[in-house]
Amino acid sequence: MPKLKLALYWASSCGGCEIGQLQIGTKLLQLAAVADIVFWPVAIDVKYKDVEAMPDKSIDVCLFNGSIRTSEQEHMAKMLRDKSNVLISYGACACNGGIPGLANFYNRDMIFNRAYIETPSTDNAGKTMPQTSFQSPQGVLTLPEFYETVRSLAQTVDVDYFVPGCPPEERTTWLALEALIEGKLPPKGTVISNNVKAVCDDCPRKKNVKKVKSFYRTFQMVPEPETCLLEQGLICAGIATRGGCGAPCPQANMPCTGCYGAPEGVIDQGAHLLGAVASVIDSTDPDEIKSIIDNISDPAGTFYRYSLPVSLLRRAKIK
Ligand code: SF4
Ligand code: SF4
Repeated sequence: MPKLKLALYWASSCGGCEIGQLQIGTKLLQLAAVADIVFWPVAIDVKYKDVEAMPDKSIDVCLFNGSIRTSEQEHMAKMLRDKSNVLISYGACACNGGIPGLANFYNRDMIFNRAYIETPSTDNAGKTMPQTSFQSPQGVLTLPEFYETVRSLAQTVDVDYFVPGCPPEERTTWLALEALIEGKLPPKGTVISNNVKAVCDDCPRKKNVKKVKSFYRTFQMVPEPETCLLEQGLICAGIATRGGCGAPCPQANMPCTGCYGAPEGVIDQGAHLLGAVASVIDSTDPDEIKSIIDNISDPAGTFYRYSLPVSLLRRAKIK
């Protein structure tokens, strides 16, 4: 049987997804026995022009991580869509916009001003900004266009499957790869994960329907080891997050930050988490409620940490 042709690509992301892929450890040998990697810029020397020269649908599977921030990433998403039979949105950024998607609370000018002028370590007296085209003595230099808004992969091209996580846990990556290897892929559009319920379903901490008078950041308290973190005043997103990761974060005394995205049937992960947080506040007095929620640091970034581009909000409206 001919080997599968596998491509891997990295758009607007941090490189953690590549580490997530390597976390399958010795199972890489099983993968290598049935698949050849034909494109993986982070690890093998294949140029864009080599991919351009490949016939359409000649790649069996492409694992695409990262959100779409620039024209280069959009171009690669479209090209890899054309060249691939199966396109998998791999990791939180490709699936939901991820951490780069938090930039949708700003616009391009605000981001460029911050990055190239305002930061204390920047020395840019001439206020030089990146240009898409520059005439140098050696010729025209170009950069990709930096888009106003970050999009998920599925907001850019047609996607066949989604593998969530920041990065996906080894068990989730292998679930997807095993389905590929065995030719047992689920229906198109499936979010491939080991549990369709919320992270709370995987979490051993006990829920006692306790209410809280204050919220804390992780450095402000040492949580008791057996009780639900949310009921101890830590913003744990487990209740508003798809399970399957095995709940490693709450088991390590850290609240879930929501990297597996919304559970099945939930449209807006941030709004769902907001509802859960509101339900544990121990007060009916509006002034006291206000002082309790004032303890939540960076609420927009906390509730929409990985999902702003695919949320009902999508981005901030900035005049
Ligand atoms: Fe566990 Fe967090 Fe769910 Fe509580 S909210 S049960 S700590 S995952
Ligand atoms: Fe991601 Fe939450 Fe699972 Fe941690 S517990 S891996 S943040 S989904």
